[in-house]
Amino acid sequence: MTEQQLWEHLVRLALEARERAYAPYSGYKVGAALAGKSGRIYTGCNVENAVYPLSTCAERTAIVKAVSEGEREFLAIAVATENGATPCGACRQMMREFGAEMTVLLADAQGHYRQTTLTALLPDSFSASDLEAGGRYRGSSHVETGHGGQS
Ligand SMILES: [Zn+2]
Repeated sequence: MTEQQLWEHLVRLALEARERAYAPYSGYKVGAALAGKSGRIYTGCNVENAVYPLSTCAERTAIVKAVSEGEREFLAIAVATENGATPCGACRQMMREFGAEMTVLLADAQGHYRQTTLTALLPDSFSASDLEAGGRYRGSSHVETGHGGQS
């Protein structure tokens, strides 16, 4: 399967997953298909709740399914919506946890899609490396913080 064929396969699976969306409140159905580096594909749909904040996006459903089955490295994710919308901020951050290089395919309900990357969608992102000692700014400009001074 060529890369192009895989992308089209993912878009088709995302469109199928969208049909399973449980979105009685927003009416905005979303499907996702996530390709793991193992070759397995995990699908997801949005699952809403009468307690609105408990609702889960399609992308996060797919990621949680994949990680819970042992997959942590991903090639691409296809996301299908009515109008080819981009993933919400929470989903972008959730994807970032498992790699900045993921290809993101954004499809509309007719199957038209465009290709982008997580880096384009979430530039200068926060990741696990930010939790490491030392920080990003060693050796760069700084201001005196006044530690030990009187204020
Ligand atoms: Zn989301």
